[in-house]
Amino acid sequence: MLFFLKTSLKRKYKTKSENIFIITLTFFGKFYLCFPNDFSPMKIKDIAACIEEIAPLNYAEDFDNVGLLVGDFSTEVTGVLVTLDTLETVVDEAIENNCNLIVSFHPILFSGLKKLNGKNYVERAVIKALKNNIAIYAMHTALDNSFEGVNAKMCEVLGLKNKKILIPQKNTLKKLTTYAPIAAAEKLRQALFNAGAGTVGNYENCSFNAEGYGTFKGKEDSNPVYGEKGKLHQENETFISVIFEKHKERNILSALFESHPYEEVAYEIVILENTNQEIGLGMVGELAKESDEIDFLNFLKKTMNSKGIRHSELLGKPIKKVAVLGGSGSFAIEKAIEAGADIYVTADIKYHEFYKAENKLVIADIGHYESEQFTKNLLVDILTKKFPNFAIILSQKNTNPIYYL
Ligand SMILES: [Zn+2]
Repeated sequence: MLFFLKTSLKRKYKTKSENIFIITLTFFGKFYLCFPNDFSPMKIKDIAACIEEIAPLNYAEDFDNVGLLVGDFSTEVTGVLVTLDTLETVVDEAIENNCNLIVSFHPILFSGLKKLNGKNYVERAVIKALKNNIAIYAMHTALDNSFEGVNAKMCEVLGLKNKKILIPQKNTLKKLTTYAPIAAAEKLRQALFNAGAGTVGNYENCSFNAEGYGTFKGKEDSNPVYGEKGKLHQENETFISVIFEKHKERNILSALFESHPYEEVAYEIVILENTNQEIGLGMVGELAKESDEIDFLNFLKKTMNSKGIRHSELLGKPIKKVAVLGGSGSFAIEKAIEAGADIYVTADIKYHEFYKAENKLVIADIGHYESEQFTKNLLVDILTKKFPNFAIILSQKNTNPIYYL
């Protein structure tokens, strides 16, 4: 076993969410994750956990359908095919490449299935996946809302700096307040930070602390760590307050209960009204140097491989601030204007919606597929970085349903 580990060890890293060391190993073409005291094959749940570190499923919009759409989390993965859309041809490509997991940006199952008899493209893709034991995982708006997602990739490709979320999400932040004996406060605070609490913008380990005293009297069945049951006890305590993103709540509560010395932990969690600058749809950023409108549109066309850009009236003003939103973005035109963008790059703009530019910015519709095309590369990069020795394959199928004459 020792020899095996020495010869096969390829990579070591630490996951953000689990806070444990994981080693990926390759042995006779099979891929393994190795946890301390555990040696198990790569499963779909491992790939899902990696994706959900940057695109937690509760980032997704309510109308969406994300996560594992077809398959079982405990299935051993033979390879991953990354695509924008899961069409039947993409399932064929997965079969050819011996991939039993398709990681798809758009969910092929969106509004539910009542029959499964192959009469439309959705049913045919799902039937083929099921027949060939191929799982399908989709993240869609979970990745749209991520600070490292679809729109960040658009910003990167277009060379935009100082990027910010265009429509920050609300109701995603919570605040935890707890009270710990002064001697235990430092360890507890650190455990909460390690579990993901206390991150605000570019700062981490943020907390508010104050000292005071707490009182308690243990009942008959109590077993107090401090004081004696049946006697009123007064303990000098630190009040600790931290904010956190709601999807981290389970980890943070586990850390609280593990690291707090009291038998009964006093704590409060409240939902905050604050917007979260780290999560939301669309982004706005700046070009390094301002550009002429026509020059920028030509750059956009070339960089985003657009066959034709439909745009609103040009304003004769230079372009410096650029708003982007991959996919259908007509709902955010006003937000792009409010953000002071000179141009809004998105897709699926209808005739009357172009009027909403109101001579305040230029709306540029570059095509839905074109705006999201680099999402495939983004996902391949993320998965390859985490699982460098694993078969992560970029689909070669162009799933754009729109053709130009
Ligand atoms: Zn889309």
